[in-house]
Amino acid sequence: MSTVQTKLTNQQQYEGAMYINGRALPVQNPIPIPNPARLTEVVGTIPKGSIAECHMAIEAAQAAFPAWAALSIHERARTVATAYEAFMPGMDDRAVLLSRENGKTRIEAWFDCMGAKRCVDYYVNLSKDFELEWEPPAPNGRVVVTRKPMGVAGIIVPWNAPVLLAYLGIAPALIAGNTVVVKPSNFVPLALIDTVRLMAEYLPPGVLNVITGPGAAIGKELASHPLVRRMIFTGSVEVGKQVLLDAASTVKRCTMELGGNDPAIVLPDANLDTAVPGILRAVFTGAGQICYDVKRIYVQKDIYSQFVKCFTEAADEIVVGNGLDPNVTMGSITTKEQYNFVNDLIAESKAGSGKVTVVGKKAVSEEEWKNGYFILPHIVTGVDHRHRVVTCEQFGPIIPIISFDTEEEAVRLANDSEFGLASSIWTEDIEHAWELARKIDAGTTFVNTHAVASAVDMPFGGFKWSGLGRSHGVIALEEQYELQTLSTRKLQGGN
Ligand code: NAD
Repeated sequence: MSTVQTKLTNQQQYEGAMYINGRALPVQNPIPIPNPARLTEVVGTIPKGSIAECHMAIEAAQAAFPAWAALSIHERARTVATAYEAFMPGMDDRAVLLSRENGKTRIEAWFDCMGAKRCVDYYVNLSKDFELEWEPPAPNGRVVVTRKPMGVAGIIVPWNAPVLLAYLGIAPALIAGNTVVVKPSNFVPLALIDTVRLMAEYLPPGVLNVITGPGAAIGKELASHPLVRRMIFTGSVEVGKQVLLDAASTVKRCTMELGGNDPAIVLPDANLDTAVPGILRAVFTGAGQICYDVKRIYVQKDIYSQFVKCFTEAADEIVVGNGLDPNVTMGSITTKEQYNFVNDLIAESKAGSGKVTVVGKKAVSEEEWKNGYFILPHIVTGVDHRHRVVTCEQFGPIIPIISFDTEEEAVRLANDSEFGLASSIWTEDIEHAWELARKIDAGTTFVNTHAVASAVDMPFGGFKWSGLGRSHGVIALEEQYELQTLSTRKLQGGN
């Protein structure tokens, strides 16, 4: 059995083989996975993956489906709970692996890896009294509504929090009776492949498979294939739209977790002693590369200057460097594309009428700095609400702070976006915050907090272009099933 502990010390390379139908495939055409915080270091390899292997995985999952679906939900939950124990012992080493392939801090990586446990625990518990069948009152006959698993679920995962995000789909899909094919991002695949492989070894062959390969070919094939009945996609709006088009060709059920541009609204009575560190954490976690990170801050004009001063001072304490260094509080950007995008955004912000303040400390030498995708925190003030640094999903450590006058204006600005993932309101008047929260068009509105990963029992997803359907909570399990109505009921006067 392969485990990350036996293969990995800090500098060893991890071979991320595909796992299909109960066995790891030999790695052919290996693609190197670099460490974004040390570009000369190769963290591991994955195979390129072909359409034929994608088909093999889908067909294995389809073949495993009838027997897996025929088990009771309790039998499946027991099997899944036992299987996940397998990946628990290597958790710390896996967090190191994830930090090396993603660039995030070790603690952030550990939180992501532990996400698999939180998801499995939650859905195993939920299965204990999950209602699978019920009889609505029916005159003239009997009606039974029953839940049926759908078949093969395809799960496509981004690079920013791959383990947690994959398991938000894997755990409810398996417990519902669906079989699974996971496709990680080519940028950060290794910790997820390791987690899935370890768990899959304890499940019947074909129930859980992991494939690799370019999104535009392998991801597209998964989204289009007729045997895949449920698609769970987490990623950008741009690719999400393409996946929806591809999934439409076979009328798949889709859950789409897409981009965000979360606003934080700071009211004049906010307690800055708690609001500033709370918002700061929500801005710079994962170097700004989390869908739920705060990406625009709106502050009432009476406290604007004070807020900017406190926020800038606090952000100046951020230590940027290699995520494995325990002194580092913010890691690197993950991909070259994202690094270039954020640097362009910084240049654009500097060229306009706004003011850009660069803060934070470097925990590496100038030479090491150039050998990684590092960017210090950037604070942008004095820009218009329509500036691109405000309207786009920056996905990097650059944050605009904008002043508003009235609450109506704040709500209008917060809602003036094609995104609607999460948001937050910061005030000492909690009752008033609850009222205001209802006016925000977002899947989640926090009050005096802005979690960067919503709790697994809270429905999670976006309004508008931020997504379709919901992950987390009971709804994510319900969405794994088709509803079938069995009926002897006759319509009045008819059949
Ligand atoms: P991405 O859309 O570029 O890629 C996501 C996944 O899709 C990858 O596995 C990729 O290989 C695959 N893919 C690429 N082209 C494809 C295609 N044509 N068909 C099928 N699959 C394809 O996203 P990313 O850059 O990896 O991740 C960052 C984005 O993810 C951000 O926009 C972020 O907001 C979003 N995200 C959303 C959530 C959420 O829950 N709402 C969570 C995390 C990240």
